[in-house]
Amino acid sequence: MSKTMKKKCSFCGLSEDNVSMLIIGIDACICPDCAERVHEVVSENYRMNTAAPRKRRPAKNSAVPKPGEIKKFLDQYVIGQDDAKKYLSVAVYNHYKRIDQNINTDDVEIEKSNIVMVGETGTGKTLLARSIAKLLNVPFAIVDATVLTEAGYVGEDVESILSRLLQAADYNVQAAERGIVFIDEIDKIARKGDNPSITRDVSGEGVQQGLLKLLEGSLVNVPPKGGRKHPEQQYIVVNTKNILFICGGAFNDIDKIVSRRLNSQSMGYKAVKEKEILDRKNLLQYVIPSDLKAFGLIPEIIGRLPVLTYLLPLSRDAMYRILTEPKNAIIKQYIRLFEMDGIKLQFEDSVLEYIVDKAMEFKLGARGLRSIFETVMVDAMYESPSDSQKELYITLQYAKERIEKLNNILYVA
Ligand code: ADP
Repeated sequence: MSKTMKKKCSFCGLSEDNVSMLIIGIDACICPDCAERVHEVVSENYRMNTAAPRKRRPAKNSAVPKPGEIKKFLDQYVIGQDDAKKYLSVAVYNHYKRIDQNINTDDVEIEKSNIVMVGETGTGKTLLARSIAKLLNVPFAIVDATVLTEAGYVGEDVESILSRLLQAADYNVQAAERGIVFIDEIDKIARKGDNPSITRDVSGEGVQQGLLKLLEGSLVNVPPKGGRKHPEQQYIVVNTKNILFICGGAFNDIDKIVSRRLNSQSMGYKAVKEKEILDRKNLLQYVIPSDLKAFGLIPEIIGRLPVLTYLLPLSRDAMYRILTEPKNAIIKQYIRLFEMDGIKLQFEDSVLEYIVDKAMEFKLGARGLRSIFETVMVDAMYESPSDSQKELYITLQYAKERIEKLNNILYVA
C-alpha cells in the first residue's frame, strides 16, 4: 500500500479522515456508524428468527446461576479443589450482581472481585476458569503473563490481553466488556529480587504497573490484533470495568514463605492452630495476601485481586478420578475417538492404576495423565482405523511396553 493511500470503511466508503475511527479486519475496515448499523440489522434478524442460535450472549444477572449452582456445574468438570470452587462461585456471582447494579439509585458501590488462584501446575486452575466461562456463556480469553513486557521492550504490551478477549468475542466490544480473562503464570511477573528465577525486570514490576489499570477498570486503547502498539494503529476502546480477571500461578516455593510466616508470627500461627492442627504438607491452604507480597507482587496488584484462593496438589485418588469421572474425562475421550471408527475400546483395570502411578511419579499434575495416555495409545490410534478389528482391549503389559519404550516421557507433556 502506498503512503498516500487512505484506508476506507468497506461498507460506506468514507475515508479514515472522515470518520472518528476505523476498526480494521483482515481484508476490510468498518467505521463506528456502519458497525452500529450492522449490529442493528443482526439484532433485528435475531428477533425475527428466534430459532437462530444466539452466540455469546452477555450474561444478565437474572441468568447468572447462584453460587451453589455454579459449584455444582464445576463439580462435573473439576475433581476436588472444593475451596477454590467455592471462592470462585461466590466471586463470579457477586461480579455479575455488581454489573447489574443500578449505580444511580444505589449509593453503595460494589467493588470488583478479581481473583487470584495459587496452586501447582496441572491442578485445575485453567480448567476452573474455562468451566466458569462455559457456564456463563461469556467471551473468555487465556493469556500468559510471561509474554508481557513493559511498554517499549520486546514482548507484548499488557493491552494485548484485551485483544485476545476481543477476538474471543468476535470483536463485539459490548460482549467483551462482560467477559472473563484468565491470566496464567501471574507469578512470573513477580518483582525481581524476591524471586531468583526472574532475570529481567521489564517483565516484572513494570508489567505489574501496566496491569493495574486493566484490573481496576478503565478505558483502554486496544490494538485489535494484539502485539505491540504503534502510533499509526487504529485502536478499539474497551472499558475493563466489568471484565472479570482471574489470575493463576504456581508461585513455586511460596509454601516456604507461608511456613516462615506461620512459624514467626505467633498471631497467625495461633489463629490457625486454634482451629485445626497445621497441615504441614499442604501449606498453600494458609496463603494470605502478604505472602504474595513477600513473593514479589506489588501491593497495588494484590489490592486489585481481592479474592485469594488455592488449589491443593492432586492426590493419587484425585488423579484416578480425573481419568475416569469428569464429563469429558480423558478415558471417555479416547473411548469416543475409537467409537467414531466403529471400534469398542476397553482397558484392563490395572492399566488405569498404572497410568496414575506414572503420572504421580512424573509430578506433572493431571497434565501428565494426558501425555502418558497418549503414549500408551498412539500405536493403536495409528493402526486401528485401517484394521478390520471391531474391539480393542488394552492390557497392562501392552501399556507397560509402550511407556518403557519412551524413557523421556517427562518431556512429552
Ligand atoms: P493449571 O492451569 O493448574 O496448570 P490445568 O487446569 O490447565 O492446570 O490442567 C491441565 C489438565 O489437567 C486439564 O486440561 C484437565 O484435563 C486436567 N486437570 C487438572 N486438574 C484437574 C482437576 N482438579 N479435575 C479435573 N481435571 C483436571
